Amino acid sequence: METKLNSLNIIDDLVINPQFNKSKIKKLLDELSQEAYAGPLSKYLFAAARFVREKSYGHNVFLRGLIEFTNYCKNDCYYCGIRCSNHKATRYRLSLEEILLSCKIGYKNNLRTFVLQGGEDMYFSDDKMIQIIKEIKNKYPECTITLSIGEKTKASYQKYFDAGADRYLLRHETANISHYQKLHPAKMDLNNRLNCLKILKDIGYQVGAGMMIGSPYQTFAASVHVHLPDVSNWQRLPEYRKSVRNLSAKAISLARAYPSATYLPYRYDNRFLSALRQW
Ligand code: SF4
Repeated sequence: METKLNSLNIIDDLVINPQFNKSKIKKLLDELSQEAYAGPLSKYLFAAARFVREKSYGHNVFLRGLIEFTNYCKNDCYYCGIRCSNHKATRYRLSLEEILLSCKIGYKNNLRTFVLQGGEDMYFSDDKMIQIIKEIKNKYPECTITLSIGEKTKASYQKYFDAGADRYLLRHETANISHYQKLHPAKMDLNNRLNCLKILKDIGYQVGAGMMIGSPYQTFAASVHVHLPDVSNWQRLPEYRKSVRNLSAKAISLARAYPSATYLPYRYDNRFLSALRQW
């Protein structure tokens, strides 16, 4: 009973206190990993996550116009359907005109954010990307442009930003280096990816990162820690595949309940506790 109470307090702390305490997180994870999907601690975690989400975003739904403009990619991430070694994939690239037509259709349907997403396709040079970004921004100045085109140099990121790109999505998929190495060929480097995220943030982009929940070799710990690469020796979940649903809900909830990790705008005080406990 005392342990459970301590864990409830850890969840409260996560939401209120922006300090990420490794030993507390480890303790919480140990308990969560032993508990059933809808156990009391998990339910409390889910409630905390929902509370944070509703305080930050209410019940609004935000729609984005996702334009998958190329499925060519020079990389070979083992989990990806468009990795370069998948010769069965049917490849395509959209022209500038096709991209602009997609924006036109999206705008007519009230979309105000366009996400240009693709593999790391060298065909789309910096000059081509800048032209695309500028054309969209000229036609739809009030719209937000998000890029999701992978790892680039600082100079390239800066050029896209100067051309009018507002946001950048670069999922790191896992922050655990040994897990990362199992999912990617040796020439790909987690540190470079994390460094790209830092550069993007420094330039001034609104940055989105993200983890892939449920990938092979993922441990409970690896799935929820965002920037704790030294915490890597925790036990692999038993019966991994059956545990994915359990793992996903808890990991997502834990990330969401921890606002300073997820960059939610809302800041909490102790009123959160009483509200949450009554929820
Ligand atoms: S970089 Fe992205 S698109 Fe390319 S293979 Fe990896 S996951 Fe797929």
